[in-house]
Amino acid sequence: MLSLSELKTLLATPQKIVITTHHKPDGDAMGSSLGLYAYLIQKGHHVKVITPTDYPYFLHWLPNNADVLIYTEAKEQAEQLVADAALVFCLDFNTLSRINELGEVIRGCSAYKIMIDHHLDPEDFDDYRHWSINACAAAQLVYDFIVNELDDAEMMNKDIATCLYTGIMTDSGSFRFPSATSTVYRIGADLIDAGAEHWRIHQLVYDNATENRLRFLGNCLTNKLEIIREYNTAIISVTAEELKRFSIVTGDTEGIVNYALSINGIKLAAFIIERTDKVKLSLRSTGDFPANEICKRYFNGGGHRNAAGGYSDQNLEDTIAHFKSILPEYKTLLLQ
Ligand code: 5GP
Ligand code: MN
Repeated sequence: MLSLSELKTLLATPQKIVITTHHKPDGDAMGSSLGLYAYLIQKGHHVKVITPTDYPYFLHWLPNNADVLIYTEAKEQAEQLVADAALVFCLDFNTLSRINELGEVIRGCSAYKIMIDHHLDPEDFDDYRHWSINACAAAQLVYDFIVNELDDAEMMNKDIATCLYTGIMTDSGSFRFPSATSTVYRIGADLIDAGAEHWRIHQLVYDNATENRLRFLGNCLTNKLEIIREYNTAIISVTAEELKRFSIVTGDTEGIVNYALSINGIKLAAFIIERTDKVKLSLRSTGDFPANEICKRYFNGGGHRNAAGGYSDQNLEDTIAHFKSILPEYKTLLLQ
């Protein structure tokens, strides 16, 4: 274990640092990682962000994106960086299985491991933890870590602010989920004052789609949406053939599940997609419905109450049938 004062002492001199985040990083994963990166390089540290996989093109504009190393594309280099690191920051995840093969590399390394995260049920692999499930985003906790734990508010700059704003915006549904408290709005305002151009960030993330994505979305809504009124549930499922036909790349499927949830009366929405290795599920829910419970109990996953994910080793058809077979158990909650 590492105390805050020991961590501060370590960070007072230049260190070799690795920052990593979860499989298929989203806006919060990349925003929190590159936000912390921009802060740590300003302090004079030698830092590398290593992601376990690639991530959506609509995040490639983030400041210092060119410095990110993707583990699957440079395993040896990444493993050397982890072996040489004095500190490894683990952002927006809390179980090492969320970073695939890289998880065991990090478990076995001698660096101090610092977890900054907002998911339930953290695994005990870290030496220092800045964790709260009440935070709307890991980026909110990185802000808090820099400003309140390390007392470095004066080091906030445009790059840090831009990245952290991106993380908070994407994970809070553009400041609209219940997790977007008045504190989150105040942090947002502070980040805008520090140089985050909120209108530009929103445009770069949400108005940056390819034509393929829009046509694919059209197909999902016209041909692939199934509404089960009996359980206030909507499902969109996608086959591997469709992914190929529409030339879908990482990021193109992001957010599609929300269209299913936007239907009047729908409490639970599922996006079920046939990836090459496994069938992936994304669940979204409204109110008290625990989407994460379904993912944890039945689909090897987890997440937040209203946004969760997991996967199945069954084929697409059987996964959809399995998902439907679970609904009666939740009927009371779904019809509330
Ligand atoms: P998405 O549906 O956008 O892939 O993920 C929504 C949320 O669900 C993520 O922020 C993450 O918390 C959680 N999540 C998604 N996939 C997995 C998974 O395979 N395992 C776990 N533990 N959580 C997941
Ligand atoms: Mn997050």
